[in-house]
Formats: sequence, structure tokens, C-alpha cells
Amino acid sequence: MIPRIETRLLASLEQALADQQLRMVYQPKVSLRDGHLTRVEALVRWDAPVLGPIEPSRFIPVAEEHGLIDDLTLWGLRTILRQWVDWCSEGIDTCIALNISALSLDHLDFPDLVERMCRALDVPTDRLVMELTEGATQPLIKLMDTLTRFRIKGIGLAIDDFGTGYSSLMQLRHLPFTEVKIDQAFVRDAPRSRDCRLIIQSVAELAHGLGLIATAEGVETVDQLRLVRELGCDLGQGYLISVPLEPEKLKDWRRKFRKAWPVLLEQEKLALWGDVESDALSEWQI
Ligand code: C2E
Ligand code: CA
Ligand code: CA
Repeated sequence: MIPRIETRLLASLEQALADQQLRMVYQPKVSLRDGHLTRVEALVRWDAPVLGPIEPSRFIPVAEEHGLIDDLTLWGLRTILRQWVDWCSEGIDTCIALNISALSLDHLDFPDLVERMCRALDVPTDRLVMELTEGATQPLIKLMDTLTRFRIKGIGLAIDDFGTGYSSLMQLRHLPFTEVKIDQAFVRDAPRSRDCRLIIQSVAELAHGLGLIATAEGVETVDQLRLVRELGCDLGQGYLISVPLEPEKLKDWRRKFRKAWPVLLEQEKLALWGDVESDALSEWQI
């Protein structure tokens, strides 16, 4: 039997999809080499009229369990592709990553549908990245055919939360990933744990050896930023760099972050810098 609270959530979610109560926010991922914006991750937000804001970690499992996840995935795709077109017209040409439930990948024709949607809006397929997490009941290896089809079409594939849960080295070897996202837990503990630093460094080396990009998630402090950079990660993402943003805020964030980047890396030189840099730094609340 479905618990009552879940039934209520499910009914509200069906309504939310129909009434367009969902929206996407976008969290920047930057190159750790030069601080440039390389891509953004789309994260869904739901402000339910009666229940209030509901976190994705609460409603995505409900959608997965009760057959709504494909609708949510398609809504997400349409939303991010339209967003790409809007940004492109403003001079921002960035890749967008979408979190995909492994359940939506059960359909072999899904990559064709994604390609058709890209073509309809004139979005190059290589601007799209699918972020996937290994689940207990949906081993990614079973989805090899679908994942390969995505790659053939030029769509990127990232393995999310790497190093926790069910993710394993075997998937990196056998599946056609383009990016490994090192789980936030390792980044959080890196400054005080030699083991975590070793794991980050090894995963980054392994990723490079296999021709993949290594991304550090959950970068919240300057120490963590400098560490993941030194340990060989290519991209960084986290609250220090930016919280997930409303789409219209991205351009302004990019302008400010360009100024803040050198200061974030060279805090000790701060005394030598002018007011502009001090302002840039205070934006990032160090
Ligand atoms: P995820 O894909 O691992 O996304 C990262 C989560 O960490 C996001 O939470 C993000 O807001 C949060 N985060 C980002 N930077 C930091 C940081 O520096 N520190 C900390 N502590 N957290 C940070 P959010 O948005 O609540 O999403 C939670 C999960 O829900 C996501 O985890 C993803 O698995 C799922 N999700 C979100 N949006 C979608 C979607 O559109 N479709 C699907 N299928 N799943 C989604
Ligand atoms: Ca993700
Ligand atoms: Ca993650």
C-alpha cells in the first residue's frame, strides 16, 4: 500500500507537471585551470502551492516509483534545450548537464528522441551531458546499448556521485562515460583527511588515463578549491563557486566570477591588490 503522505505528494506532482509549477535552476561548473564557465548542471525545483518548496531528493524517488519519471525527464529536457537557445542568443554558449534517472534510460529509443528534440531547436548535441547515478536496482551496465547510442550522437555522459553507493571501477572501464563526478563527501573531508585526498587524486588520474574529465563536486571553501585543483581535477562545482542560479542570473555571475577567480586562488596576495579585487572577493564571502 502507498503511504498517505506519498499519495498526496504524487497527486500534487502530477498536477505540478500539468500546471508548470516546476522550474530549473543551474549550477555552474568551472575549469579549475582558468576559472572559465564550462558547463552548468540543471537542478529541478518545485514550489508547491499548498505543500511549499519540496526537495528533489523527496519527490524524484516518488516519481520514479509511480511512473512519472519519464514525464519529468521530458519536461527537463525541453526546459534545458529552450534555455540553451535563450542563453545562446545572449552570447553564452555553454554545455548543460541534466540528471537522468536510470529508469528513463530503459527505452532504447530515448537517445533518438533526445536527438530529435535537439534538432528541432537547433541545439548541437555535444552541448548536452547526461548525469547518471548507479542505483541498487538499476545497474548502469544493463544500459550499455542506450548509453552507447547517446555517445554515438555526441551527447556527453557523466557518472555522478562517484566513489559512493554502487558506483564501481568496472563501469568506468566498460561504459562510454566522458566525465566522472567525484562525490561531495570526499571533497568535504579532503582538507583534513589524507585518505580522501588520495582517493580524489587517484580517481582524477584514473579518469585522465581513460580519457575522461574529472569534476569535483561540493566545493564549499577556498581550501577545498585549491586542493582539488592541486589533486588534478579538471572542473569544480559547489557553493563557493556558485549556488544553483536562476537562468537570468548566469551572465552577471560569470562577469563577477571572472574577477574573483584570481583572488580565490591567491588570497595571500590580497594586500597587494586594489579595491576591485577586494570587492570581488567579498562577493564570495571568504
Ligand atoms: P546531485 O545530482 O548530486 O546534485 C547535487 C546536489 O548538491 C544538488 O542538490 C545541489 O544543490 C547540491 N549542492 C551543490 N553544491 C553544493 C555544495 O557546495 N555543498 C552541498 N552540501 N551541496 C551542494 P539538489 O538540487 O537538492 O538535488 C539533489 C539530487 O536530486 C541531485 O543530486 C539529483 O540526484 C536529483 N535531481 C535534481 N534535479 C534533478 C532532475 O531534474 N532530474 C532528476 N532525475 N534528478 C534530479
Ligand atoms: Ca548530478
Ligand atoms: Ca552528485
